[in-house]
Amino acid sequence: MTGRQWIMGTCLLCRRSDQLVIFIGPVEVGGLSAPVFACGDCCEWCRWVVHSYHQRLDARPAM
Ligand SMILES: [Zn+2]
Repeated sequence: MTGRQWIMGTCLLCRRSDQLVIFIGPVEVGGLSAPVFACGDCCEWCRWVVHSYHQRLDARPAM
């Protein structure tokens, strides 16, 4: 995937800063947004969260 690079930085989710992280998206707080990064383990967690969110959406009755 182009434009997605692993860099040394702080993971938003586990707050470790001794490992490689990757951009996972902007986070918005009070109208301000900032890019945030997550480590490999937390990316797995993010994938699970996104996957289960969409499964719930798919399970909703059609309007
Ligand atoms: Zn992490």
